[in-house]
Amino acid sequence: MAFEGLSDKLSNAFKKLKNKGKLTESDVKEAMREVRLALLEADVNFKVAKNFTNKVTERAIGQDVMESLTPAQMVVKIVNEELTALMGGEEEKIKFASKPPTVIMMCGLQGSGKTTHTAKLAKMLKSQGRRPLLVACDIYRPAAIDQLKVVGAKAGAPVFEMGKKNPVKIAKEAIKHAKDYGNDVVILDTAGRLHIDEELMEELKNIKKEVNPDEILLVIDSMTGQDAVNVAKSFNDLLEITGVILTKLDGDTRGGAALSVKEVTGKPIKFCGTGEKLEDLEVFHPDRMASRILG
Ligand code: GDP
Repeated sequence: MAFEGLSDKLSNAFKKLKNKGKLTESDVKEAMREVRLALLEADVNFKVAKNFTNKVTERAIGQDVMESLTPAQMVVKIVNEELTALMGGEEEKIKFASKPPTVIMMCGLQGSGKTTHTAKLAKMLKSQGRRPLLVACDIYRPAAIDQLKVVGAKAGAPVFEMGKKNPVKIAKEAIKHAKDYGNDVVILDTAGRLHIDEELMEELKNIKKEVNPDEILLVIDSMTGQDAVNVAKSFNDLLEITGVILTKLDGDTRGGAALSVKEVTGKPIKFCGTGEKLEDLEVFHPDRMASRILG
């Protein structure tokens, strides 16, 4: 289960506090040292972990907390609030264009779950009464177009493809097609690579420049821990994404990416993937995730 190690370690740290009754400053500092180690072991970015525990410590050694009847519980409450804030506070919704179609550009490294999540998103949007069109802009991986057709059919969403044409042209034609056929959302499944390279980023930048997407969603694999966050930072620096889809949260991910992405990139996690099936997509709620981590 995701976050298991982190949840266990945090709950141990808090148990020690709860056994103490009245707290001293050094009790709180010791507990925060444990929290910081737990975060680091869960692959949370070093700076993020440090800032986080500093913030909690500052609030927790305030008079109100130390003099309350249940100081340990108040510390846990502060940790919960700060974890929620760390992950972005409020849930972040998709921004739809005032004039359809809304264009959503999906990007990410190969294997992150981009194609699967293109279809998951289509299925979710369909259930909200929208009419998404999926667009095969990954012209390099031979099976990519077929894969999109298969998952598109499962989601009940049409797939637009032009074979191996220039992805910018495909995207533009798809938007025209969507206007003609009444599709109010266009989801572009762009190419992924094993690593970020110049050619890929150039292509993505070109698509962005020419079609001006309403959303650029980066798909990252939570199982890759710190790497996922580094990938998010690079994509954001080069492309200015609008949000992240964090996938494979059903695996035994340690949690670092969920906790670090917003702070490191400034961009929110909008959705998370929790399985291979198309219905395994959830809107990312920072408060629920914090509660889940705190067990
Ligand atoms: P792409 O190369 O980025 O388009 O990645 P794919 O969409 O092909 O996904 C790669 C693999 O990850 C596939 O086997 C998917 O079934 C799997 N996958 C995608 N999302 C999830 C998820 O949220 N949870 C799990 N367990 N597997 C996922």
